[in-house]
Amino acid sequence: MRYKIPRGTYDILPQQSYKWQKLFADFRKLAAAYGYAEISTPMFEQAGLFERSSGESSDVVKKEMYRFTDQKGRVFALRPEGTAPVARAYVENRMDIGAAVKKLYYIGPMFRYDRPQAGRYRQFQQYGIELIGSDNPFYDAEVISILWFFLSGLGLKNLRLEINSVGCPNCSQAYDKALQEYFRPHFSDLCPDCQVRIEQNPRRLLDCKVPSCKEIASGAPVQLDYLDEDCRIQFAAVQKHLELMEIPFTINPRIVRGLDYYTHTAFEVVGGSLGAQNSLAGGGRYNGLLEQIGGKSTPAIGFAGGFERLLLALEEEGISLGDVPAPDAFAILIGEAARDAFTPYLNALRLKGIFVEFDPDKSSFKAQLKAADNRQARFALIFGEDELAANSVTLRDLQSGEQKNYSLENLDLLAEAIRG
Ligand code: AMP
Repeated sequence: MRYKIPRGTYDILPQQSYKWQKLFADFRKLAAAYGYAEISTPMFEQAGLFERSSGESSDVVKKEMYRFTDQKGRVFALRPEGTAPVARAYVENRMDIGAAVKKLYYIGPMFRYDRPQAGRYRQFQQYGIELIGSDNPFYDAEVISILWFFLSGLGLKNLRLEINSVGCPNCSQAYDKALQEYFRPHFSDLCPDCQVRIEQNPRRLLDCKVPSCKEIASGAPVQLDYLDEDCRIQFAAVQKHLELMEIPFTINPRIVRGLDYYTHTAFEVVGGSLGAQNSLAGGGRYNGLLEQIGGKSTPAIGFAGGFERLLLALEEEGISLGDVPAPDAFAILIGEAARDAFTPYLNALRLKGIFVEFDPDKSSFKAQLKAADNRQARFALIFGEDELAANSVTLRDLQSGEQKNYSLENLDLLAEAIRG
């Protein structure tokens, strides 16, 4: 029996994994500089958490969630997104106590039963930010700036930040009514899901993926025209802060977020040429979520982006994330006595953080040198009978051929020479 990887998933092989590590490291570094700390939540949660927060009529919950029942009949779901779990952790761990604002980030896999295609997988890796505890529009701009500077800092040029306001429950009522009035005459041309959505949650019609619904939705009224006074002031302030941060943006009144808990600011960064999958990241305010899942009413804002699409966009723009790291040095140990004697030094150098390779399956000088070349090591550390007698090692620069002897009494000197 040969087993196959599940559809819509992928292996990250060693030739690729360093790229992921580099993106993780860059994101962590930037988030830390803004004062955000990492939070990790389980990959599965009670299914109800997502049903309650994302909304039962959302595609993510209705069609895409991996639900399962455990041995005791409890219904869980592989997390389709990171915000609801972070909000659950905030409430459960009483993170409302202490500093008023909690700045959090996460990196981890999400799961959606989606139709796999380029940039769309069933298990995908997201990075995200959540800022909980303030509705100050400065923070909207701060959260957006982390995303913007992360992506542009990688060298991406083909990026566009689009922002919108989806209002608050107060202005949504008038908007929902306007949407219902707009869609009702098209009832018979809508997909069965949208026919239900008209009455249940007309805003969900705006992100239906069925082409005929999309076509109809393209003429629908936009939320921006229905904002109340407070929402208009808030949205203007977000724009002002973005301008102060010198982040270019356009207003796209058609941005709606696929989940029910969003209020006020909604945004998306698009890039690359994946067509329908050109959304590199998206987010917004979710001032209603914490209360919805049993916490106190607490304003919050965040975003999530996918690493897969980011890697594709980087590739498209010809941006390199460097090469698979080559060894700093390759140990060439000739003869059993030399090999045995050098073994502790091999480890000592590695413990100093130097990447030293050794191939115990090769014994001749020639074969080991060839291996060092193949691995594109910068230096060879040659240790044979002569070096054994002198308690020293020969460091050969494999590009210039230059070589020099270093005493094994003081490995720091050798380590320094290798580090350059
Ligand atoms: P969402 O949670 O749907 O707003 O998605 C946020 C980001 O996650 C998107 O902009 C994509 O970069 C990424 N993403 C969402 N769904 C998928 C998927 N099925 N496969 C790969 N990336 C995804």
